Parts: sequence; structure tokens; C-alpha cells
Amino acid sequence: MKKVMIIGAGGVGQVVTHKCAQVPEIFSEIVLASRTESKCIAIAQQVEKNYGRKIITAAVDADNVPELVALLNQHKPFMVINVALPYQDLTIMDACLQAGAHYSDTANYEPLDTAKFEYKWQWQYQEKFEQAGLMALLGTGFDPGATNMFTAFAAKHYFDEIHYLDIIDVNGGDHGYPFATNFNPEINIREVTAECRHWENGEFVTTSAMSTKQSFTCPDKVGTYNIYRMYHEELESLTKHYPTLKRAQFWMSFGDSYLKHLEVLGNVGMTSIEPVEHEGQQIVPIQFLKTLLPDPSTLGPRTKGKTCIGCVVRGIKDGQEKTVYVYNVKDHQECYREVQSQAISYTTGVPAMIAAKLMLEGTWKGAGVWNIEQMDPDPFMQAMNQYGLPFKVIEEPGFELI
Ligand code: NDP
Repeated sequence: MKKVMIIGAGGVGQVVTHKCAQVPEIFSEIVLASRTESKCIAIAQQVEKNYGRKIITAAVDADNVPELVALLNQHKPFMVINVALPYQDLTIMDACLQAGAHYSDTANYEPLDTAKFEYKWQWQYQEKFEQAGLMALLGTGFDPGATNMFTAFAAKHYFDEIHYLDIIDVNGGDHGYPFATNFNPEINIREVTAECRHWENGEFVTTSAMSTKQSFTCPDKVGTYNIYRMYHEELESLTKHYPTLKRAQFWMSFGDSYLKHLEVLGNVGMTSIEPVEHEGQQIVPIQFLKTLLPDPSTLGPRTKGKTCIGCVVRGIKDGQEKTVYVYNVKDHQECYREVQSQAISYTTGVPAMIAAKLMLEGTWKGAGVWNIEQMDPDPFMQAMNQYGLPFKVIEEPGFELI
């Protein structure tokens, strides 16, 4: 029975708080802190209504290390679940070191002024966490997170060596807006407009954003979608931890309307992260765009359809080549009924809760900075079945992927 502090009260923070509250035997006390305390209070009220549990709330600026340390020292949580924005990863890690709290997150650190998706800044904390006897677990959402675990699970149980990895993230949900993003618009647009990189024969190969696509038919009648190759941060850690990989690619589905809007917005400069002068004031176009777009946390009641996210792994077992597909399908409306949130936040928040639970129980432990695939996948996969994201495995799925 231990106390956790969740930092960030957005779409994902809402789901993590609900899911932790559903497991009182492990998460005995929950503190929810974020920049805008009213958002924490709204989530706390929902949780109290749903489960009769009281959540402690607090305001904190997670860019400010002394403020974070003071809050951590006041509440003394066992760990922090960081679901604020990637910009806050390093300040929260610094505060955890100072206050003696373990750490987890769902997205790698990004500097505000360059859209770079690299683990190097967080990996540099290895020695500090090791010396402090603290654990920092990186990438505990769905992708990264569950997809890393699907890969680790396949590698452990189905292969002697894995050679090819295709992570496929399909969102077959429709929210009815011509253009909206399913999680933080700024982070989402930075990610999808970035150059594509995939791993091939020992190095990352760069191609222009959205330049490679194929059609993918999901199992379980989810449908057929166009999926586009893009860079995603788990490719960096997975190719490091599975050096036998000859190729690793990440694919995501996008609808034609989303891509058309994105192209036009890009052409007129609205997706830029460079500040511009507007009527005597400096504004960042992508931040202004975020103000105009629907708040992802309000999409829940409108979103219908399913997500289908999984990993196609090809490799060798007993000298024979084989392919295995490990995946989860989740219904947006089912998520909304359970935690008043759509499936993108749900599929991120549930693995984040599971990873924290395994750390709190001591099932996963170790001083230092770890990516989630370095942990034993079995207890995680079992918990996915238990807490709302059951997985399936298809051997020889017969996909013809490029
Ligand atoms: P939101 O924008 O909905 O929520 C972010 C929250 O962080 C908001 O409550 C915001 O506060 C708070 N916040 C931002 N800056 C600060 C700060 N300086 N101090 C304190 N709080 C701050 O984002 P999401 O919930 O959609 O995403 C949360 C995280 O999850 C992101 O890092 C995202 O990249 C990651 N993610 C990971 C996925 C995965 O599968 N691995 C998938 C989807 C998301 P305020 O309300 O005041 O703005």
C-alpha cells in the first residue's frame, strides 16, 4: 500500500487517476497535481462519484524544480507517474532525485524549441538514478509502452531471435470533427510532421514525412485503413535492446481529411514551432492552433469506433522463420462508459497504471533508468488482460507488409 503522485491532469491524467483509484489495495493514496488545479479537482470529483475515493489535488508548475521538490517533500509519494507534457520530463526527474521518489512517464523528453524525439537526455540520468537507488521507467503508455511489451513478449515466448518489427497503430475512431487530434495537439502535430526514420541494417534511414503508406486490414472486423510510416520513439530503445533487429518500422493510420487539413495548415505555417511576431506579440503558431482545436479530453462522448494497435514480429524459432502478431482492440465508447474518456487516452493511461502497480508491488525494480521492454513482460501482459486491454496473439497472420 503506497502513495503515488500523478502529474498532469489532461486526457491521460484523467484515465491514470481513474485506473489507480480502481485498485485501492495497491494505490492506497493518490495525489493528482497539475498546472491548473481546477482540472485536478474536476477529475477528483468524478473519481469520488465513481468509486467513493478521495484524491488529493495540488497546483504545481512542473517546469519549476524547487516547486516540485517542495510538493514531493510535502506528500512523500513512493513514485511519480508523469503524464504532463514531454517538456517536463527532465525537471520532474530532477525533482524525483532530490526528493527520493521513483519515476515513470509515457513520452520521451522533447526540448521545447526543437521537435526531437530521442532518449539521450533521459538516458544521461542513468548514473544519477543508480546512485540514488531510484528507478526511472520510461515509456509506459501504449506506444511507447504496451507495444514495447508486445515485442518483448513475442521475443520471449515465440522466437529465438527477432529480425523484423512492424508496429501498427490504427485508430478506427471517428469524433465527427473535420480536424481534431486525439491527444495533445501540439505534441501530436510535432510528431506527425517530423521526418520519418526507420531502422534498416544497423542504422536509421530518413525519408520525408508521410511519404510511405500501405493498406492494412485489422483483425476482429475493425476495418481496412491506410497506414503511414513515421518515426516513433520506441524504435530507438527497441533497436538498442534487440540488436538482432534487421528492420523496425512504425505505422499509424490517418484519414484523408486529417491529412488534407494538416497539409494546408503546414503550407500556411500554422504547424510551425518557430515564434512569429503578431501585432506586437510573439506567438508560436502551433500553440495558437492548439487554442483553436477541440480539447482532446472533450472527444470522449463523440468518438465511435475502435483502436487496433499491435506488433508484427518476424524472426527465427528452432531454425524456422515465423511471424507473430500481438495486438489489442479497444472500443472508444466502452472506454467512455468506464472512465469518461476516449480510447487514445485510455490505451495510454491503463499501461501507465499497470507499470506503476508493478513498481509499487516490487515486481519490477532496479536502480537506474530503464525502458519498459527491459522489464519482464509476463506480469504486464497478464495485467493488460485484467485491467481493460486484453491482448491477442495470431501466429502466421498472413499479412503482406512492405
Ligand atoms: P494534455 O495536454 O491533455 O494534458 C497535459 C497535462 O499536463 C495538462 O493537464 C497540463 O496542464 C499539464 N501540464 C502541462 N504543462 C505543465 C506544467 N509546466 N506543469 C504542470 N502541469 C503541466 O495531454 P495528454 O493527456 O493527451 O498527454 C499527456 C502525456 O501523455 C503527453 O506527454 C503525451 O505525449 C503522452 N502520450 C503518450 C502516449 C503513449 O501511448 N505513450 C499516447 C498519448 C499521449 P493544463 O491543463 O494547465 O494545460
